[in-house]
Parts: sequence; C-alpha cells; structure tokens
Amino acid sequence: QTCTVGLKFKDTNKAVSIGRLERFVADLGQNENGIPTVAPETEMKVAIIGSGPGGIVAAADTRRAGHDVTIFEAFHKPGGVMVYGIPEFRLPKAIVQKEIDVLTKMGVKIVCNFVVGRTRTVEQLMTEDGFDAVYIGVGAGLPRFMGIEGESLVGVYSANEYLTRANLMKAYDFGKGADTPIARSKKVAVIGGGNVTMDSARTALRLGAEKVYLVYRRTEKEMPARIEEVHHAKEEGVEFHILQSPKRIIGDENSRVTAIECLKYRLGELDESGR
Ligand SMILES: Cc1cc2nc3c(=O)[nH]c(=O)nc-3n(C[C@H](O)[C@H](O)[C@H](O)COP(=O)(O)OP(=O)(O)OC[C@H]3O[C@@H](n4cnc5c(N)ncnc54)[C@H](O)[C@@H]3O)c2cc1C
Repeated sequence: QTCTVGLKFKDTNKAVSIGRLERFVADLGQNENGIPTVAPETEMKVAIIGSGPGGIVAAADTRRAGHDVTIFEAFHKPGGVMVYGIPEFRLPKAIVQKEIDVLTKMGVKIVCNFVVGRTRTVEQLMTEDGFDAVYIGVGAGLPRFMGIEGESLVGVYSANEYLTRANLMKAYDFGKGADTPIARSKKVAVIGGGNVTMDSARTALRLGAEKVYLVYRRTEKEMPARIEEVHHAKEEGVEFHILQSPKRIIGDENSRVTAIECLKYRLGELDESGR
C-alpha cells in the first residue's frame, strides 16, 4: 500500500494509507445523512472567521456544544479552498455543499461577502456585536512568488488566482455567465511538484491547453504531491521536466509570456526536510 503521509514513507510497503482511510470515513459519514445533536442553548455567541475545513469543523463542534455560531466568509460562497481551489474533478462541490447544509440545519448562520478586518474588525465583533469568542480560520491564501524576472508579465498566475478563477468564478464558462475571464493558453508551464501543481496542470488541460509542462527542481521521488496525483497528471498527458527551475520568464513587446528560461539542477545533499 502506498502512503500519502510524508515522503519518507513513499518507498515502503508497510505504511498506512491515510488518504484512503479518510475517504472511507468521509464516505461513511456522507451515507449517514444525520444532523449532529445540538446541546441546549448556552447564551454564548461565537464568531468563526473563514468557512474552509478549519472553520467548518470549529463551527460544527462549537454549535454542538449549544453556542450561537456565525461564520463570516470573505468570498461569496462558503467552503474555502475546497470550493475555490480544489477542482471539481477531484472534489465535487455538491459534497462540500452537503457539509455546509448540515451546518445550517444545525443552526449555524453563514454570512458571505464579509471580510473581517474590513467589513468589521475582530474588536468590533467582540466589543460592539456581542461575540464572546472568535475563531480565526482564514487559511493561507496569500501566494508566494519566486522573485524572478518576468513574474508580472501577462499570463503569469499564482496557482491561487488561476484555480480561483477556474473553480469559484467559473472562468471555463466565459461568455456564458462566468464571473471572470482567464487566459486560454495553448502551452502552459506549471512550476512546482505538489498537489496544487498537479491540480493546476490538470485544470490547464481542461481549459484547452494543448501542451502542459510541469517544471520541478528535484526528481519525481522528492515531489511532495501524492503518488496518485502524479499518476493522474501523467496519465492525462502532463509532460514532466524534472531537475529544472525557472531562471526568468520571457515576454514579447506586449508583455505577454512567450517562454521561460530554466536552470538545470543536480541533486545535492539532503536538507532539513529530508529532500
Ligand atoms: C489546490 C489545492 C488542492 C488541495 N488539495 C488537498 C487535498 O487533496 N487534500 C487535502 O487534505 N488538502 C488539500 N489541500 C489543502 C487544504 O485545502 C487546506 O489545508 C485547507 O483548505 C485549509 O483549511 P482552512 O479552513 O484552514 O483554510 P481555507 O480552506 O483556506 O479557508 C479559509 C477561508 O477563510 C476565508 N477568509 C480569509 N480571510 C478572511 C477574512 N479576513 N474574513 C473572512 N473570511 C476570510 C477565505 O476566503 C477562505 O474561504 C489543497 C489546497 C489547495 C490550494
């Protein structure tokens, strides 16, 4: 059995397959269709900021204890990365909606288009709006760029923006009611070797790219992505370019991406992450 936790286990056949266990438990829960019991009301008001998996679990547990719970979500739809990041082909949105429906049936209030820090501050929630506690579950949505030349050219996206446009704002339906456009590129290079990279590469294929290249600085063995994600990406035709890292992104006179220049790498000594 392959393991989905930690690179060190990738080569062993004794490891526990966490992903499959999680899936089994989740499927079992889906089939139960039950609404958790809510304890008698406590008069305590709790604000949950963010409606990703963290916020959903915190809201459900807090509501079960009988507290009055409100989720504040910045986007127009609840679900966090499960809705704006992970593509439909990996996590159908109906499953996420079912989880959200359970929360509302338990009596959790969900307020969307509400950016805590702008619409209201945490302090205002606690001193003016009567909340006794605030749980901050805002995720890690800020992208980190590589700091190389050409990153501001037209056609360069962080995975976060690319996937949000494609998933949440339905860019694939542009002209038919989508909330945002997206560049329909014929050739796409995706940089990195994690699950987000695989999702982006496979999304690019679905958006009509003829060629999708995955550029990763180490070898496939060191890739943080789950083995099955790598397998699916390859199966769908993503072309892997390992031991390479972009040095600069090159554009034309209209500042549109035309190419990337890569450095070739060799594996060195293991670092503190064991890679
Ligand atoms: C493309 C992609 C694929 C992934 N695939 C997997 C996978 O297959 N398996 C897995 O286990 N994990 C996967 N992950 C990781 C997983 O999605 C995250 O670990 C998880 O979503 C984190 O949950 P969270 O609730 O902490 O944050 P998030 O899901 O990021 O949710 C945070 C929410 O807070 C909201 N928010 C932020 N700031 C504010 C504010 N000021 N006011 C109000 N709301 C705010 C955001 O809009 C967002 O909805 C993936 C991540 C990505 C990006």
